[in-house]
Amino acid sequence: MNLLFVTSEVHPLVKTGGLADVSRSLPMALHALGENVCLLVPGYREVLAHSDASTVILTEFPYGLLPAPARLLETTLPGSGLPVWVLDCPELFDRAGGPYQDNNGKDWSDNALRFASFCKAAAWLVQGHATPWAIDLVHCNDWQTALVPALLKFWDCPTPSVLTIHNLAFQGNFDAAMVEVLDLPGKEFHPGSLEFYGQLSFLKAGIVHADGITTVSPRYAREIQTPQMGCGFDGLLRHRASVLSGILNGIDELWNPATDVMLPHCYSIVRKSGKAMNKAHLQHKLGLPENPDVFLVGMVSRLTWQKGIDLVLDALDDLLDDASVQFVVLGSGDAEMERRLVHWNSRLPDRVRITLGFHEALSHEIIAGSDLFLMPSRFEPCGLAQMYAMTYGTPPLVHHTGGLADTVSPYLPGKSSRTQSGTGFVFEHAHTYDFSECFRMALACFRDPPAWKKVVHNAMKKDFRWNIAAQEYVALYNRLLPQWPELPE
Ligand code: ADP
Repeated sequence: MNLLFVTSEVHPLVKTGGLADVSRSLPMALHALGENVCLLVPGYREVLAHSDASTVILTEFPYGLLPAPARLLETTLPGSGLPVWVLDCPELFDRAGGPYQDNNGKDWSDNALRFASFCKAAAWLVQGHATPWAIDLVHCNDWQTALVPALLKFWDCPTPSVLTIHNLAFQGNFDAAMVEVLDLPGKEFHPGSLEFYGQLSFLKAGIVHADGITTVSPRYAREIQTPQMGCGFDGLLRHRASVLSGILNGIDELWNPATDVMLPHCYSIVRKSGKAMNKAHLQHKLGLPENPDVFLVGMVSRLTWQKGIDLVLDALDDLLDDASVQFVVLGSGDAEMERRLVHWNSRLPDRVRITLGFHEALSHEIIAGSDLFLMPSRFEPCGLAQMYAMTYGTPPLVHHTGGLADTVSPYLPGKSSRTQSGTGFVFEHAHTYDFSECFRMALACFRDPPAWKKVVHNAMKKDFRWNIAAQEYVALYNRLLPQWPELPE
């Protein structure tokens, strides 16, 4: 089948989080199953910078469809061979800054126009304009692409659509006046279509109009149907429950400690010795005392309330009271959280190292070199970093929520090494006290080498490859494709 996978970020062209990783690895897994997949991404400056001699111009978009001149480019996703279509509309996308925010962390004021235009371009292609082959199904991801299913319905295009919700908290809600500015049909601005409490909501439009809806773990699919975790959409999601499913993300082949080109020392479940060398390398690189016996605790994360960074900050006095703990963080986000973390760096410079910013290679080195990986998210649709950490023999400490609960088996103190099935450390309630208690349990386990070795081994044994999940997506696509009547013999 011919699939168009529409996404606002894809590794290694542009990445702010897990969506970029999934947008590379899921299409690759679908391709490995024999599907014909093409990606569509906005032509941000960093995406255009990847274009090379193999990039070709496929078509120009018609005057009036988009607010400024735009072309469709075709290139290849580095390291994958997958075709990528790029919406090259410089006025909307070719600018310094991130995909969604400027360099000061402020949302672009024209985000509604940018992503509505991206959706219009996608829907126009799905209609069959200018494409070398007919698109059988379009797979959209998050609010930035969620107008596509709605536009297809408004334009009477029968091609089925799937919307994957990677994070329900990001909804793309804008002032009602944008309906007219974006040239959307005014009669669709009501609570059964585009309207969410008086605003235009891209994500709601997608949830209402997509033929299939998925989210990225089975538990999160249940959680978002509750008032506590539904971000105002729980009623609508319950209404659409018959087409909503949770398919757990897999992890990309780039995240394999046996072959990871970003690590100074590769290792695997049968040759674990390289892990200790990565720990020494990380300590050296970050200017911390090189000591194999300290408990090196790492974090790589967006620094936001969702990720529970404040729980960690509130517990740090307590955690770092033990002189054998080193703490390293890579992340960026909330200015106050960044300030508090940096303060710890100056307070304990030989035990704490905070690196602000986005660094792909350092993220691999921290996940490989740490003993414990912290991911105490308040909510977590799936989470990839905890799966990377387990694969790299770095047991994660997580809150029992969403994809974290679906992927991490809790360590149970008191069990013998033989019966211990834990792959990480899990706390029940998102409170500093529970988090600290869980941390103490992890530290006690680390000081009991046979118990620690077993948890590390269990974690590395887990199989997070994409093949099963990709088959679930193919089964879903097949259910949505028009069924042709059997021809008589
Ligand atoms: P989310 O998508 O909610 O941010 P995930 O755990 O699903 O969380 O994915 C996060 C991805 O982004 C992982 O690949 C993680 O390693 C990466 N990441 C997060 N922050 C940084 C950073 N500052 N530098 C490099 N990689 C980062």
